[in-house]
Amino acid sequence: MKRALITGIKGQDGFSLAELLLEKGYEVHGIKRHASLFSYERADVSYQAGCLNNVSFNLHYADLTDAATLTRLMQEIQPDEIYNLGAVSYMSAPFETPEYTVEVNNLCTLRILEAVCATNLVNSVRIYQAAAPQTSNALQRQAESKPKSQHTSFPYITTKLSCSQLIAKYRAANGLYACNGSLFNYEIPRRGETTLIHKIIQGSVRIALGLQGTLYLDSLEARHDWGYSQDYAEAIWRVLQQETPEDYVIATAVMTTVREFVRLTFAELGVDLVFQGDDAGEVGYVATCHNHDFALMPGQTVVAIDSAYYRAHTVEPSLAEASKSRRQLGWKPRHNLHLLVQEMVQHDLRLFSRQTSLIKSSQQALLQPN
Ligand code: NDP
Repeated sequence: MKRALITGIKGQDGFSLAELLLEKGYEVHGIKRHASLFSYERADVSYQAGCLNNVSFNLHYADLTDAATLTRLMQEIQPDEIYNLGAVSYMSAPFETPEYTVEVNNLCTLRILEAVCATNLVNSVRIYQAAAPQTSNALQRQAESKPKSQHTSFPYITTKLSCSQLIAKYRAANGLYACNGSLFNYEIPRRGETTLIHKIIQGSVRIALGLQGTLYLDSLEARHDWGYSQDYAEAIWRVLQQETPEDYVIATAVMTTVREFVRLTFAELGVDLVFQGDDAGEVGYVATCHNHDFALMPGQTVVAIDSAYYRAHTVEPSLAEASKSRRQLGWKPRHNLHLLVQEMVQHDLRLFSRQTSLIKSSQQALLQPN
C-alpha cells in the first residue's frame, strides 16, 4: 500500500486528489491548520472513499510555516509521495499580504525539500509541487504589462516561480524525485467565492433568484483556459508515476472569453443574454428568460464592467502548450467547459434556493401572530 502526504488537503485540489488516491488504495495523510474551515461535504466524500477501499484517511495539524512539525510528520508518516498543494493561492492575497504570501508559498517548498533531505526519505520519496501556469513566461509578460490600476502589487506568480526553481535545483543537485506541475485554472463546485468562475456562477444564480442585482466584472474580453478539478487530480497523480522526474504543463488548451463563460452560465439558467458596448463600458442584459421561476425582465441589466474591479498587473494566460502531458502522461481532460458550468450552476442553485427558502420561512414565522 502506498502512503501519500498532501499539504493543502482542505483546498479544492487537496480533496479532489485525496478522493482519487483513496480510490486507488493509498493511505492518505493530509495537513490541516487549526484555522482551516471544516467542510463536512468534502470530509464525507473522502471518508467514504477511504471506507470503500478499506484504507485510512488521516488529518494532522501543522502549518507550512512550521519546519519542525513538517520534519516530524515526514519521519512519522514515511510517505512514498508528497503532494505540495498548500499555498496562499487567492489572487488578491499577494496584494494584501505580500510578506505572508512569500513566507508560505516560497519557504514551504524549501522546508519540505530540506525536511526530506534531513530524513531517510531522500532516495525513495517522490515530490509534486503545484506551480502556476507557465510561470516564467507569465512573469516576463507581467513585467512588460501596463498596470490597469495604481495599486502596488506583489505578484503571486513570483512566489510560484521561485518554488519551481527550488524543485528543479534540488532535483539536479540532490537527485531528488521532484516535479513541477504547471496547471492552468480548474474548478469544482465545492469551493469558496474566491475565483472568477465562482464569482460569475454564484452571481448569476443569485441574480436569477432575485438575491443580487448586477454582476460586476473587470473585463469580458479576458480569455482563460478552464478545466475540471477531478481531471487535473488524475494528471497530478500521473506526474509522480513516471520513470524519471520531469516538469509538466497541464491544461485543456482551449481558451474561452469571460463573455462566453457568462453567456453559458446564464443559458444554463434558462436566460438568454445580449451584450452591448465595448469592454470599457459593456453591459449584458436579459433578452429572454425561459424559466418562469425567475423574475428577470427583458432589458434588465445583469452584467456590467466596473473599473473598481481592475486588478494590478493582470496577465492573461497565453494558449497552453500541453502536448508533453498528453504524450508522456497519456492524459487528456474528460470534462468539457459546458459540463463544468452545468455542474457548478446546479450546485449553487440548490445551495442558494435552500438558503432562500430558509429565509422566507423564517420571515413568515416572524409575521405569524403568537
Ligand atoms: P486552495 O486555495 O483551494 O487551497 C490552498 C490550501 O493551502 C488550503 O487548504 C489552505 O489551508 C492551505 N494553506 C494555506 N496556507 C497554509 C499554511 N500556512 N499552512 C498550511 N496550509 C496552508 O487552492 P487550490 O486547491 O485551488 O490549489 C492548490 C495548489 O495549486 C495551490 O498551490 C495553487 O497555487 C495551485 N494552483 C491552483 C490552480 C487552480 O486553478 N486552482 C491553478 C494553478 C496552480 P486552509 O484550508 O487552512 O486555508
